[in-house]
Parts: sequence; structure tokens; C-alpha cells
Amino acid sequence: MKIAFYDTRSYDRDAFTAANKNFLFDIDFFDFHLNEKTAFSAKGYDVVCAFVNDTLDSKVLHILKDCGISLVAMRCAGYNNVDLKVAAELGLKIVRVPAYSPHSVAEHAVALLMSLTRRIPQAYMRTRTGNFTLNGLTGRDLFGLTAGILGTGKIGKIMAEILSGFGMKIELYDVYPDKDWAASHGFEYVMLDKLFKDADVLSLHCPLTDGTKHIVNDKSLALMKNDAVIINTGRGALIDTRALVNALKRREIGGAGLDVYEEESKYFFDDWSVDVIKDDTLARLMTFPNVIITGHQAFLTTNALSAIADVTLGNIRDWMNGTALANEVK
Ligand code: NAD
Repeated sequence: MKIAFYDTRSYDRDAFTAANKNFLFDIDFFDFHLNEKTAFSAKGYDVVCAFVNDTLDSKVLHILKDCGISLVAMRCAGYNNVDLKVAAELGLKIVRVPAYSPHSVAEHAVALLMSLTRRIPQAYMRTRTGNFTLNGLTGRDLFGLTAGILGTGKIGKIMAEILSGFGMKIELYDVYPDKDWAASHGFEYVMLDKLFKDADVLSLHCPLTDGTKHIVNDKSLALMKNDAVIINTGRGALIDTRALVNALKRREIGGAGLDVYEEESKYFFDDWSVDVIKDDTLARLMTFPNVIITGHQAFLTTNALSAIADVTLGNIRDWMNGTALANEVK
């Protein structure tokens, strides 16, 4: 079984090489993205393994099919970058890793929140240069504030429970509310507008779909408190970034902790430190003292990486053996 892995980094290669000791697949790791220009490289392989910023649109899926690929194994939970309709038409199976460590993502969301509210990046930079002054570093207690959790699946639930531990009031929104879970924790589901209005901290944990694209936009930002902070570890396009930048410039929003960005695929996971960033929206975002950006890092813990590798290779083995695909995306 020959597998082509796209957009891999050293941590992927280490985790998958370790996990593959139990599977013994023939794996080639590529560091480039899967897209229209590179898809031909799948020729000679049985399976393609792709990640969040690979392109799996109609054109790419047709090329993969022509190359003899029958299975695309996503080594992530989200699959918004896959044209599922075309995949089904072509008879290409898509599998994913629905859950690896929801704690890894929720804990990173909390790290972004705390870094933002306690100005840790600024404090770190100062003390490294021997500057121990505190001007401009005044933070805010989370205790007593209201957290709005948008999307209460695996990650959103953990985020709600962690923030509840800080003594925050928890408000929730989900198109499929889990009322029993909410009641058992004393949390409350509210209408979406109320979530935007009430939240001191808004944390995004829903998938990117046609219905959630730009769910944070001019209109919803206008509902929010001027000192509210937004944490996004979901997908970049949940936020209309231009609207966020405008709200930040007008001081109509308190800050943002972003692990994802809607145009991240060109920049994230690569070193642009000696190059010119041509994306003016990203460049502008990076200038705000009340914005923290991490490069789609929330999943990156040792626990999550080894779980991703085990489940991905297990998905491929199930497909190879003709057993039911528990993690198939339909
Ligand atoms: P999940 O499927 O367990 O939960 C998603 C929840 O969102 C569900 O409860 C669903 O009902 C809800 N939802 C769907 N549409 C909605 C809408 N229109 N409005 C409100 N809620 C809606 O998924 P999860 O494992 O909790 O992951 C959530 C998202 O986090 C993923 O879709 C993925 O995009 C993102 N993610 C990011 C990273 C990272 O490294 N930054 C890692 C893993 C997942």
C-alpha cells in the first residue's frame, strides 16, 4: 500500500513514522501542498493523505482519480477544503480523524485568551530586554465575565467547562444544542444575537460551512461589547477579517486571539520571516497590540499528533481490508 503524504513537516513525519511501525505502509512524505499543480505527483500511489490547507477541489479530485487514487485520508477533523459532491461522483472515498485530542485545541484557545487578557507577549518581550515596567500591561480578571461559546461539539464543550472553572458565566449557541449536557453544568443556550451581545469572550468552535462562513461580520461585531475579545481556533473564514480589522481600528472590539486566518493557506506552516508578506490584511492584523496570531497550532501536542497518526493509518488499513469505514465523510 503506497501512500503519498502532502504538506508534511518534521513533526508529522516523526509521528507517522512512529505509528507506521504497527502498520508497515509504504509512505512518501512531501513537503509541498496538494493542489492543481502538484496533484499529478500522486501517480503510482494508492492513497493520498492531505491536511487542512491542501486543495481538494473538483480539478484536483479529477487529477487524483486519473492517477488511480481511490482513497483520500484527511489527517485532520475539518474537511471544508474537500469538494465532497465531486468526490462522491468520482467514487473517491474520504476519511478523516473526527477527534484526536479536543483538549489540545481547547487548551490552546485558553492559552490565546490568557495571553491576550494578561498581555503575556508584551511582558515577555519587555523582560527579555531587562524592562520590568508594568505600564500598559493592565489585564482583566476572567472571573465573573461571560464566555460565549459558538459551537458546542467536542472542543466547544471542553472550552466551556474550562472557562467555567475560571468562574465565568457560560452562554452557548449551537444549531444542535446538547441541552442535557448544558443543564448538567448549569450552562445556558441562547439565541445567536444574544451570544454576540453578552459575550466578554467569544470563542468559535463550529465547523466552516456555507452557514457559518463570516458568522463574525460587520453586523455581529456591531452587536458585541467594545472590550470583548474573540478567540478563533475553528477556521479562519468564520470571521470576515476585513470587518474585524475595521472594528479593531475603531476600537469597537477588545482584541482577538487567532489560530486560524481565512487566507492562511499561502502563509501558515511556512517560514516567511525573510520574505515579504503581500497579504495586507494579515500584515495589518499583525500590527495590533491586542491581536495574537498563532499559525494553526492548536492541534500541535504530542498526544494529538500520535492520535492523528494512529487513526489516519487505521482508516487506511480499514479501507485496504474492506472493513466498514467508521470515519468516512459522506
Ligand atoms: P464537532 O463536530 O464535535 O463540533 C462542532 C459543533 O458545531 C457541533 O456541535 C455542531 O452542531 C456545531 N455547528 C455546526 N454548524 C453550526 C452553526 N451554523 N452554528 C453553530 N454551531 C454549529 O467539532 P469539534 O471537534 O469540536 O471541532 C470544531 C472545529 O474546530 C472543527 O470543525 C475544525 O474546523 C476546528 N479545529 C481546529 C483545529 C486547530 O488546530 N485549530 C483542530 C481541530 C479542529
